[in-house]
Amino acid sequence: EGPVPVPDLDPSKLIITRSESLKPIPKPEDLLVFGTIKTDHMLIVSFDPATGWSAPEIKPYGPLSLDPASSCFQYASNLFEGLKAYVGPDGVPRLFRPEKNMARMARSAERLALPPFNPDALLELIKKLVIVDKRWIPNATGYSLYLRPTIIGTRSGPYFRNGTKPISLLASTENVRAWPGGTGSHKLSGNYSPGFLPQRVAIKQGYDQILWLLKDENGSYQVTEAGIMNIFVVVSREDGDLDLITPPLDGTILAGVTRDSVLALANAHTDGKLVLPGIPSNRRLHTHERAFTTADIDHWLTLGRLQEMFSVGTAAILAPVGRVGIKDLKGDIKDLILPSYEDGIGPLSHAMLQMILAIQEGRENFEGWSV
Ligand code: PMP
Repeated sequence: EGPVPVPDLDPSKLIITRSESLKPIPKPEDLLVFGTIKTDHMLIVSFDPATGWSAPEIKPYGPLSLDPASSCFQYASNLFEGLKAYVGPDGVPRLFRPEKNMARMARSAERLALPPFNPDALLELIKKLVIVDKRWIPNATGYSLYLRPTIIGTRSGPYFRNGTKPISLLASTENVRAWPGGTGSHKLSGNYSPGFLPQRVAIKQGYDQILWLLKDENGSYQVTEAGIMNIFVVVSREDGDLDLITPPLDGTILAGVTRDSVLALANAHTDGKLVLPGIPSNRRLHTHERAFTTADIDHWLTLGRLQEMFSVGTAAILAPVGRVGIKDLKGDIKDLILPSYEDGIGPLSHAMLQMILAIQEGRENFEGWSV
């Protein structure tokens, strides 16, 4: 990404505020349980995109105060390192190969789309902290002081552009959001921050969101989710009805409330329990929770059967998809273009969006959904 455009970490700006009440140091013969005893000081430095890295500070160890909307809480935009400080008989504090930890930390920051920093500058600051807290390093063989450099994301998380202008998706064959045996079907913080960097790359390449894929046993790429939304396709059938298809809840898909609502409303329309706005009451919608691949999308488009594709979630309710970039065998990105509609949104997408909005705002009533 090149150099940091704003001030990098600067050890010459370090401010040291020493603790006025130093804690008693346990003796090596006392039972020491890993991670239970903290030293007197900590090193803190914060980043602001406008002003860069702040003046580093060594100050008394204590709790942090954070905005509850900080991205670390919901999206686990966090990383850490672990290394130790030792002293030998000469009383000199030493770190073991710390530049390895600093380099790994810089790579972790890059992967999570956290701000870059100069690893040498951070090491210099850590050395200063070790010297300030030197009396904590047990002077006995086999004992050490554990250091835990940590970065946490304190800004808000991803945003989603609202509106009915079709979005573009970049199908990712490099990164995977969820896998069999993983945690993709749960709304866990750890599922989110790994998607930040791929999302940034997609935007740089001219796409709005990532289309997350999972390679199946045939080597085909199954479609799983779009950004942080579930995905649907509308495919016309030979009998004139429509298939409404979304990937199954097989452990790799988040069970979206909007996804469930779209399936239920489509079934209710077909069963004559309601009429979706603008969709004839005798137009049958067949819902399917089953896997489909990027090759299926290409195939349906070639046959002229793929009518609509849309992603759904609480934030935007529904976003029509206009374009999907997929990699061909040579690695070049080829755009699959979805049918376009006046107002940018297909009839079933429009009907679902209007119906859900009407129920949410209390203009329609459906099965006690509005509470
Ligand atoms: N997939 C993911 C990964 C999500 O984070 C969300 C948003 N919670 C969704 C799908 C859509 O779920 P819902 O309709 O419940 O908002």
